[in-house]
Amino acid sequence: MLDANQREHTNSYYAATQRDKGPFPKLNGDITTDICIIGGGLTGVSTAVELSENKHDVVLLEANRIGWGASGRNGGQVIGGYGGSLSSHRESTDKKHGAGATDKLIAMNTECVDIIKERVKKYQIDCDLKWGYINAALKPREMKDLADWYDELKEQNYPHEIKMVDGKALKSYLGTDRYIGGMVDMGWGHLHVLDLCKAEARIAENLGARLYENTLALNIASGDRVKITTASGTVTANTVILCGNAYMQAFTPKLAPKISKYILPATSYVIATEPLSDEMAANVMPRNYAVCDQRTALDYFRMSADNRMLFGGVSNYNATAPRSITGTMRRKMLKVFPQLADAKIDYYWGGRLGISFRRIPQIGQITPNIYYAQAYSGHGVAPTHMSGRLLSEAVMGHRDRFDILANETHIPFPGFGFIRQSMYAVGMSFYKMRDALL
Ligand SMILES: Cc1cc2nc3c(=O)[nH]c(=O)nc-3n(C[C@H](O)[C@H](O)[C@H](O)COP(=O)(O)OP(=O)(O)OC[C@H]3O[C@@H](n4cnc5c(N)ncnc54)[C@H](O)[C@@H]3O)c2cc1C
Repeated sequence: MLDANQREHTNSYYAATQRDKGPFPKLNGDITTDICIIGGGLTGVSTAVELSENKHDVVLLEANRIGWGASGRNGGQVIGGYGGSLSSHRESTDKKHGAGATDKLIAMNTECVDIIKERVKKYQIDCDLKWGYINAALKPREMKDLADWYDELKEQNYPHEIKMVDGKALKSYLGTDRYIGGMVDMGWGHLHVLDLCKAEARIAENLGARLYENTLALNIASGDRVKITTASGTVTANTVILCGNAYMQAFTPKLAPKISKYILPATSYVIATEPLSDEMAANVMPRNYAVCDQRTALDYFRMSADNRMLFGGVSNYNATAPRSITGTMRRKMLKVFPQLADAKIDYYWGGRLGISFRRIPQIGQITPNIYYAQAYSGHGVAPTHMSGRLLSEAVMGHRDRFDILANETHIPFPGFGFIRQSMYAVGMSFYKMRDALL
């Protein structure tokens, strides 16, 4: 069990600068609802918005604070794509899921980002949203993969501006010699993710949803109506949607053992420098686009609205933190931007994300009235919004898009607990070694 202090937001740049610090109440007593969502990250709150916009009676239970998990701790990079590589394999995807399935998946690859764009506009959300993204390459092999991806996107009539740039051209985007080139994508971007998450929670609340913080769901009794027990009350609902992702496995592994074996928690870390001078900000990131490299344990970085470098990385699969998060992350940042050697580190933090073996988000049903979505494998800011839409469509009986993902076969991670984690850590070391050698 976490103590009261641990149930507050971690000491991140996002928590320090969030616009709406106001709380939601704790559940006290026994209530009933049509739909109960468990987990107040982006999956949970975006599902709550979709269902509330469609006039459903919604209750959301969050163990700590809204956006306390990965959703309030991540790199803030708005990355498109949903369904992993499924949309790249038209023949097998259409054969398995029916004619037209690939086209639906291709549309969802951009719709997940459009949901954020449209919601920010519709509800006037202040979250520093900025467009522009660079997938940067360190090696010729990665450059070739990016070029193949560029061709695929063009063939799919990708609706945003994309271009391949060589190392020389990249210098007008990034003040570093580290990369040999990359793909620039104006359809992706970055934002203050805790502000987005909190604003979406408020939107749902204003539409009539009841949201509770500091309310850990301890038990689910399934049946025609589902009863959720917490320490301070119960919720009886027609439908339950589990959105606890990697943290649900950590807090309440017995809540849904059927889905927990398909998800492996990994840890990633972020540092935020002090605000840089305008001159230095223009030197390191002249266009203020977000960036990631192509490795398995990738670096990802961007500028915040107040000119801080937010630098993330170190996907860690063995649940042990580096001895010094600041030291490790600062070394990584200086490899890319040695000119930041004098920049003070104001914040550092880490968070848990859910990895799926095939890197395909997992969405489906455990029973006819218990739904779930999890495992975005490190790319969840936009995909969580697609899950929210698919979950709400499914609850309302429109299953054709939901079923494409729900009928996918997922591979469980072998073993359990520590053994599962260790086996996977060994496996990932292989991929990291491969990245280093090829
Ligand atoms: C450090 C880091 C950097 C990342 N960077 C990026 C990025 O730049 N771009 C990107 O696209 N993705 C990124 N990701 C991934 C992305 O953050 C996640 O995929 C996404 O936030 C998952 O959202 P979620 O709502 O499913 O889960 P979470 O945000 O983890 O939310 C789950 C919530 O459920 C609550 N909960 C769990 N169990 C219970 C229970 N029993 N009862 C009540 N509540 C419960 C938890 O307290 C938590 O708040 C990053 C992740 C991390 C950790």
